[in-house]
Amino acid sequence: MTDDKREITRRELFTTAAGASAGLLVGSAFAPGRAFAGPKGEKLPQVPRRVLGKTGKKIPILLLGGAVGFDKRFDPKIAEALRFGVNYIDAADCYNGGSCEPAVASFHKRAAVRDKLWITSKSDAHDPEGFEETLETSLRKLQTSYVDMYYLHAFGDPADLNDKLGKVVARLKKAGKMRHFGFSCHDGNVAELLHLAAKTPWVESVMFRYNFRQYGDKKLNAAIDAAHGAGVGLIAMKTQGSEASFSGAWKKFEKTGKWNKHQAVLKAVWQDKRITAAVSHMDTFEKLRDNLAAALDKHELTQVETDALDRYAQTTRSLACDGCDHLCGAAVDAPVRIGNTLRYLMYHDVYGEPDKARELYRKLPVLARDVGGVDFSGANAACPNGVDVAAHMKRAAEVLA
Ligand code: SF4
Repeated sequence: MTDDKREITRRELFTTAAGASAGLLVGSAFAPGRAFAGPKGEKLPQVPRRVLGKTGKKIPILLLGGAVGFDKRFDPKIAEALRFGVNYIDAADCYNGGSCEPAVASFHKRAAVRDKLWITSKSDAHDPEGFEETLETSLRKLQTSYVDMYYLHAFGDPADLNDKLGKVVARLKKAGKMRHFGFSCHDGNVAELLHLAAKTPWVESVMFRYNFRQYGDKKLNAAIDAAHGAGVGLIAMKTQGSEASFSGAWKKFEKTGKWNKHQAVLKAVWQDKRITAAVSHMDTFEKLRDNLAAALDKHELTQVETDALDRYAQTTRSLACDGCDHLCGAAVDAPVRIGNTLRYLMYHDVYGEPDKARELYRKLPVLARDVGGVDFSGANAACPNGVDVAAHMKRAAEVLA
């Protein structure tokens, strides 16, 4: 059995990874051309790759999420991930206050590995002119002449995916500034947008909110089938499904095998072969190594592990918000933004990003934050997941204001 085919144990991975990162952390230069080698030049096991739909390109099943904020000079976690074949970086013009793209540039410049990386970035401007301008800015900030993929970020309005934008995308691709196009989405109309992607030939990939809580969702499943069938490359995000104010909720996961909750939910997503990859925000070496161990392990979850995840999903269902606030928002007589607010609360409680959560919350219109005296009882009743909207909105106002 060759080295890359043998199964690495968690212990081996930790030992190897620790050795590799130790070299980097003590300041040794990242050696160009040794991106996929261990500290002694040995070939390390590589994370499996899958074809990303009609792009025809193979990408790793585990992707490096850029919203966590990379080290601006040289992020050793990217180097560590790269050694195990995780060469896809998911950036955006706005991530980490706009510092994500320059940090990615610093990394690939210093390591001289631009040609070994797949860089995706995203535009928050969705109109054709704004999209093109943002791409040009991204290329400058990323210090590269092209991005492998450029997404409309947080896409939500189907009308934005129009012929005018299609022509701009085709021109930018022909000019070699972007290789592929798609969009990311996480609002309540994800299923609708997946169907739209399936009907739009120039949409090559969609990154969407998908996690273990949604496996029984027939509408979403039909939309995933349609997009997958049309060759749209699908990337899962927000796989942890711990949204809203549920700090500590993940601890209720009953570990029945070798995987913790974060690893189990990733493995559950990878078991869905319609999904090419999952993006993960790995802000520590511990999370990176945990996720690498899960990705490198070739076994699927056992029935016992799957049952434990199902039980966890059921018992914590009312503790997770899906962002579908067209349902609960319509039952409140005030201009509040429930989906956004509970997402920021998730950043605060679950993702460990209180500063980012407060910053985003404070950008909401004043009236959207004015929850005093607002009657949320209708929202509580309207939520299909039984989320206690009233309690979470009140707490969000307390901890995020
Ligand atoms: S509170 Fe319920 S209805 Fe409202 S956005 Fe969250 S999951 Fe959807």
